Amino acid sequence: MYAALKHYFGYEEFRDQQQEIIETILRKEDTLVIMPTGGGKSICFQLPALLFPKLTIVISPLIALMKDQVDGLKANGIEANFYNSSQQADEQEVIINQVVDGSLKLLYVAPESLSLLKNILDEDYVSCVAIDEAHCISSWGHDFRPSYQQLGYLKDKLPNTPIVALTATADKATRQDIAKQLCIPNAKLFLSSFDRKNISLNVRPSNKRIQQIVDFVKQKPQESGIVYCLSRKSCEELASKLKAAKINASYYHAGLSHDKRNQVQEDFIYDRTQIVCATIAFGMGIDKSNVRWVIHYNLPKNIEGYYQEIGRAGRDSLAATALLFYSYADIIQLKRFIQGASNAKVQTAKLDRMKQFAEAKTCRRKTLLSYFGEILEKDCGNCDICKNPPQFIDGTAYAQKILSVIHRLEEKEPMGMVIAVLRGSGSSSVIEKGYHQLKSYGIGRDLTDMDWQQYIIQMMNQGYCEIAFHEHNSLKMTTLSHQILFEGRSVKLTKALAVLKRKTGVKSNQQKQFTEPEQDESLFEKLRLLRLEIALEESIPAYLVFNDATLKEIAEVQPTNKAEFLEINGVGQRKHDVYGKRFIEMLKEFNQA
Ligand code: ADP
Ligand code: ZN
Repeated sequence: MYAALKHYFGYEEFRDQQQEIIETILRKEDTLVIMPTGGGKSICFQLPALLFPKLTIVISPLIALMKDQVDGLKANGIEANFYNSSQQADEQEVIINQVVDGSLKLLYVAPESLSLLKNILDEDYVSCVAIDEAHCISSWGHDFRPSYQQLGYLKDKLPNTPIVALTATADKATRQDIAKQLCIPNAKLFLSSFDRKNISLNVRPSNKRIQQIVDFVKQKPQESGIVYCLSRKSCEELASKLKAAKINASYYHAGLSHDKRNQVQEDFIYDRTQIVCATIAFGMGIDKSNVRWVIHYNLPKNIEGYYQEIGRAGRDSLAATALLFYSYADIIQLKRFIQGASNAKVQTAKLDRMKQFAEAKTCRRKTLLSYFGEILEKDCGNCDICKNPPQFIDGTAYAQKILSVIHRLEEKEPMGMVIAVLRGSGSSSVIEKGYHQLKSYGIGRDLTDMDWQQYIIQMMNQGYCEIAFHEHNSLKMTTLSHQILFEGRSVKLTKALAVLKRKTGVKSNQQKQFTEPEQDESLFEKLRLLRLEIALEESIPAYLVFNDATLKEIAEVQPTNKAEFLEINGVGQRKHDVYGKRFIEMLKEFNQA
């Protein structure tokens, strides 16, 4: 097992549960693997496939991705192919012949095409079946695919063949449904930790978010990232604003033609586009390992979605950043979407958990993992709260000012107007209504709009005022409001964050393991270019030549001969044979220059 891991994948060690999973599969037991995105699921079935005598069939939902997966395997010197409806009959015949003569180790198949393979669904040819994205079989899951439902017959056809189901969806109902529908009730369950330690978690108020995004991206000019937006329109608008700021961005949503979507996805995977502004339609199966950051332009509907989306960053386990912009306007809009839905109650509860995460005053990772039933003993040290713990202040005077305005406005106006009156705004909407004559007009000029907004949200969270979603989102008093205004009740708030000052990122002493070692930028850049050159020659995405982690290690170690090159993590035998010389020569040149 270890020999194969090094020979084909170039890795010295297994991660977490990989070894146990592989041993179980090699014992021909059915297996259910729940592992977060980027956790390393592929090796769990690819390595056994190399050790089994016959073929491993991999069921995979996305035709568009099969080629990349197969290219990745071939780059590692593994005999693999795919079979789907995009191929001609004669191509398909060649593949069937490869299966029959035993020259293939892995065959990726779309579930729809499986029926065409009846003749080889036979234990004479097949050693193992892996079902990727297995949650697609369950209508409980969020990505249900009817074509997955026929997979139940596999166990019938191949009763002694181990079936391995893999997914990143953790919820229990889905998990049980997968085992039931695949007829593998006794499958051994491997549930990995959902903690992705390398992803730094950050939440920022959404004011001036476009400027915040531009600043963020300009600090990381070479890094690929995804910005998730709620609406198609905001994807397009944001992409055009980023372009106007000379940032290489594009957009993706379900309203685009099939060809256009493929084009955007491919440009991103091949590093021709740095940033994609997308709705959640983008991403299932984006295997690109060098996505360095994910931004949420809007608050996601629930934690499952959020978690899956940020999981697309840092699959190579190098430092990555998740940045969420939080605005109360999003909550209001999401609540509006939910209204009237048949499962409005469940959706509201899920949105509330999302909101709790965004408003957390304690370690965000703790909040996040608790949603998945995991308890983190210590604070993570890699979230914005851990790095900049909130400072509590006596907020009684602020609270009184806010409430006195709400009171004077007769509890009829939304947050924006309350803030405008506090700040003494001269806008026409204030003047027309005569609010400039109120006694509390302008009592809050000492703070910015954004500060007031953060304090009002904190007040709502503590029940000191509330928002009436059914009455134009007007702010209302509660019984506690009266105690604050008239009975001297004191209020604790946490100091408002300055929006553009605080840096998001991963540079912190506590997080040494995820800060990149100091190294020569120009060397890494040269290595990146060589990687790109090879990728173009072989017509594969750059990350399939070497992922960023491997490239970083090459820059650090600077191997001087092929034996040293083979020691690098991610350099297997084929890549050593085919690329070794070029990298070593480049390093030599670099050091002589
Ligand atoms: P998943 O399918 O679970 O989202 P992948 O199988 O794509 O994740 O793996 C994510 C990344 O981790 C890939 O770049 C892969 O090469 C790398 N990886 C997997 N296993 C190991 C390992 N044992 N050591 C180092 N890197 C690994
Ligand atoms: Zn933390």
